[in-house]
Amino acid sequence: MGKIKTLPPELISKIAAGEVVERPASVVKELLENALDAQAKEIKVEVQGGGKKLIRVIDDGEGMSLDDALLALQRYSTSKIAKEEDLFAIETFGFRGEALAAIAGVARLKIITKREGDLAGVAITVEGGEIKNSEEIGSPKGTTVEVRDLFFNMPARWKFLKSANTELSHIGELISKIALANPEVHLQFFHEGRLLNNYPVREEPYPRLAEALGNEVAKKLYPFSANNGEIKVHGFASQPDLNWPQARGIYLFVNKRPVRDRLLLHAVMEAYRNLIPRDRYPIVILFVEVPPALVDVNVHPSKWEVKFADQQAVHFSIITGIKEMLGQAPWLKKEALAWRELKEIRETSEKYFSSPQESAYYFPQQEKLYEESEEPSLSSPPFLGQIANTYLVFASGDGLILLDQHAAHERILLEKFQEELFQGRIKSQPLLFPEILEVTPAQAKILEGFIVELEKLGFELQPSGERSFWVKGVPAILIGKDPIPLLTEIIQEISSWGKHGNTQMSYDPLLKIMACRGAIQAAQPLTPEEALALLGELQKCSFSSNCPHGRPTMINISLSELEKMFGRK
Ligand code: ADP
Ligand code: MG
Repeated sequence: MGKIKTLPPELISKIAAGEVVERPASVVKELLENALDAQAKEIKVEVQGGGKKLIRVIDDGEGMSLDDALLALQRYSTSKIAKEEDLFAIETFGFRGEALAAIAGVARLKIITKREGDLAGVAITVEGGEIKNSEEIGSPKGTTVEVRDLFFNMPARWKFLKSANTELSHIGELISKIALANPEVHLQFFHEGRLLNNYPVREEPYPRLAEALGNEVAKKLYPFSANNGEIKVHGFASQPDLNWPQARGIYLFVNKRPVRDRLLLHAVMEAYRNLIPRDRYPIVILFVEVPPALVDVNVHPSKWEVKFADQQAVHFSIITGIKEMLGQAPWLKKEALAWRELKEIRETSEKYFSSPQESAYYFPQQEKLYEESEEPSLSSPPFLGQIANTYLVFASGDGLILLDQHAAHERILLEKFQEELFQGRIKSQPLLFPEILEVTPAQAKILEGFIVELEKLGFELQPSGERSFWVKGVPAILIGKDPIPLLTEIIQEISSWGKHGNTQMSYDPLLKIMACRGAIQAAQPLTPEEALALLGELQKCSFSSNCPHGRPTMINISLSELEKMFGRK
């Protein structure tokens, strides 16, 4: 007897199920995808015990005949593809024909389904993959799939499930993703008979964003889009001061399919580089739309991963789309686009909430926003004073503007340097009395290699002996500042590159150091003229809201926020 055996069918199906069904939320995902593929417009998800006891998905989609329903339970049976070419033109969520079979193999499953014209529906019960019963039954059009006792026949798997609450939150998270991508469908989510989430049909994006992410988040999201040939990228991204310690708020979709994709995540983070701190994540809802032939969705059984034909084009479009929006800093403009849209949909959204308290949409100063948007509104507001010689306070048309003087100046300088460098080189000014810069012999060697590059940044250096340089010129903007500590920091930065095997000039970190060293420090008194000049310059910046390290430069407190603080609202 050889040592190799063909596995028995039950074991094969359990192994296969392991790839598709990891936890209750994966069952909900497959059943929701089936309902959407069946063109359902109204879907209810009911669960008990965090989905460990029961998951029931009720849809009003096209339903199945008895024969089809029996076939649907077999592995590799699908109505969605038929031949190899179809694999490259997938327009449905499902296509592998294995979800129902996989779920049926590891739970007690019941399908009740009826097509539009049929006189009666059918009910089929399956337990651990075996069909127990099938009968005619009265039923409305559509399909209900009930999944009880997940992993009842796989105790080892069952043990891996988390508490009902944890599983429930995974399901809620999954449903919110599906809801974000499918605003034309009414989705309801019940736990133990209680309605946890209601996602009515939405024609405008903001109410759906608010339902899925909460109002406080939705308020700070702004639309972006970019087209690149056949690749279309669009969605909503947060103003930089809204950021979280985990990537939980980044929702990625490819052709409406929720995905986990490093390429997309990387592009999103790249768009926010230098705008938020390193270890923080923005809130972004990203939809990538590509012709099905240009994306392979058949990469993973649970379909969370995809592969693009042109990765670079997708990456580039995302960065461009988000950056363009961020560059306009719409949150600093009173006529924030988002609020316009919100105003328009206020009436429809109000219909869905029974009492004013529940109507959680928060419409600050609606009417006013409209009038004031006519004129450029941020032109020199009154300067009220300086707090701790560090924060500048201005009265704005509706509320307060707070400025961190150091962060603001840093941002201004960085953008000036970037602009000058973009034009060719940073303007240098000769020092009347050259200064001497002392370094270690090792640093001297490194520095010599970068002298020409540093000229581009406005520094004129001349070697003088083994371990010192004459500083003959500095960037004109920095005249009057002590160049020695600045250059010392620059040398430290440059020396650190070699350690990482990189000897290329990389301007970005050096410009940041120059901006930081050159900027007005905290705890420095400013005159009202200086304060106003700073605000004016900041408003001219393309990324005015954050300093190069990602901290905010400016905080707006609107009148309605003040009113809230004082309990008037
Ligand atoms: P796939 O979705 O990959 O085709 P599934 O095992 O999830 O595989 O489903 C098998 C088939 O059963 C589907 O192709 C579809 O024809 C049918 N089906 C499943 N769920 C539904 C539903 N809710 N409404 C109508 N048809 C369904
Ligand atoms: Mg499916």
